[in-house]
Amino acid sequence: MKQKEEFKWLKEANSQSLQQTLMDLDKAFKAFFKKTSKYPRYKKKSNRQSFRIPQFFNFDDSILYLPKMGKGIKMENHRVFTRDNVKQLTVTKTPTGKYFVSLVVDDRKDVPKKVQITNDPDKTIGIDVGLKDFAVLSNGIKIGNPKYLQRSEKLLKSRQRMLSRKKLGSNNRDKARLMVAKTHERVTNPRNDFIHKVSTAITKRFDTIVIETLNIRGMESNHSLAKSISSASWSRFFGFLKYKSENQGKNVIEIGTFEKSSKTCSVCGHVNKSLTLNQREWECTDCNTLLNRDINAAINVRDLGLKQMGLDPIPSDRGEYKPVENPLTAELAKMRIRAGSTSHGPEKQELYAMRKLKLSTGAGIS
Ligand SMILES: [Zn+2]
Repeated sequence: MKQKEEFKWLKEANSQSLQQTLMDLDKAFKAFFKKTSKYPRYKKKSNRQSFRIPQFFNFDDSILYLPKMGKGIKMENHRVFTRDNVKQLTVTKTPTGKYFVSLVVDDRKDVPKKVQITNDPDKTIGIDVGLKDFAVLSNGIKIGNPKYLQRSEKLLKSRQRMLSRKKLGSNNRDKARLMVAKTHERVTNPRNDFIHKVSTAITKRFDTIVIETLNIRGMESNHSLAKSISSASWSRFFGFLKYKSENQGKNVIEIGTFEKSSKTCSVCGHVNKSLTLNQREWECTDCNTLLNRDINAAINVRDLGLKQMGLDPIPSDRGEYKPVENPLTAELAKMRIRAGSTSHGPEKQELYAMRKLKLSTGAGIS
């Protein structure tokens, strides 16, 4: 294509980056023909852009050298790596026009051996994600959605509406698009930060984490903004849990989709067919246990995971839903102090989120 007049601009780019892009496209089409993913989508210029460089790049403390880019680009390091360990480099431009470089680094360490899966309730946890609370754990810990996130989600919605009213191709539309992108960042950055903290605390605290497989296809067809943001957060949350567990030798068990996780009594197995979505609590007609909807679901998730691994369900504290002394909150509080000393921007928001988190963990359980 480079030989053709109309594609002459391709010569401006590093040839290896072009090859990488072709490989990505090839991969996307192969996945499509294997029916494991959708038809490759056209990538808009205004959306996130990225290219990879497999070789011939270099960097020192503050300058990045890329092929065909002359005398180097000033950069700010978030971490320090030696060039020898870096295998590949990706340059990304966000919709708001910020540039990031991410590196694939071989740390020369072995993947740690997995700790044994046990049915010790102190080591094994089931997680139920929901719209009301971000996540509920089988030991009774509730992790609420931080309030500031809900506020910026409202703002995002109104700005998206503004954008949809602007004329296609107009300058005003470009401006509105940038506003939406910026608001989107304001929603996703703190949210990612929140998900990182929660997932780190959980993987540190527990040896085995049982989760449901998310039905992403069903979620994509959902048009509510709150739900689409939530579903994106859940899959990110589960992704973080998986890679962090991998790095620490912890276990993540995925149990598939468990449709009746809230309706099934975790004590006797009775299924409450009449349970409605608004019912936060219910009493089992077979064994008379008072069940909290979400904790019950989380316990069911945990026990199914154990069953799939050939282990008995955990018999302790059945039916008793007392607020637990919250190790996660303490863990998160410790992290807040550390985060506060390195970052300055979202510190106040973070504090607020943590306070909210504290309020919504444990305290809301009856
Ligand atoms: Zn029961």
